[in-house]
Amino acid sequence: MPIDPTLEYDDQNIFAKILRGEIPCSKVFEDQWALAFHDINPQAPAHVLVIPKGAYVSWDDFSAKGGDAEIAGFVRAVGHVSRELGLVEPGYRLLANIGMDSHQEVPHLHVHIFGGKPLGPMLMR
Ligand code: AMP
Repeated sequence: MPIDPTLEYDDQNIFAKILRGEIPCSKVFEDQWALAFHDINPQAPAHVLVIPKGAYVSWDDFSAKGGDAEIAGFVRAVGHVSRELGLVEPGYRLLANIGMDSHQEVPHLHVHIFGGKPLGPMLMR
């Protein structure tokens, strides 16, 4: 079920539980600002999720309420993970779903990193 991104942050969402260590993840990277882990249902040979440590429902919430340091830290973490995965030279795709029309399912901001094969054009059907 897609989530309503205008609702208050729900600290029982699955990524909040991963951040608290209550649910395991396949960790790729962690620093002060972000945690990156492999998507449980990969849609490409490389499919990693990067989430901020702070409690933000979506990119909209984060861009409106996030502090400058945590926004910078998060953006740098996404770039760092993509480089560490070796995706810069072949190329990769970033995706952040926000709300109903995008079918966002987890109400904690996450950026998808896709790569590891030619991804083709972005299609809207
Ligand atoms: P979205 O549709 O953008 O909200 O994407 C949510 C993503 O989270 C999906 O690609 C799921 O496969 C992924 N996901 C859900 N639960 C987990 C989990 N426990 N560990 C890793 N990825 C997950």
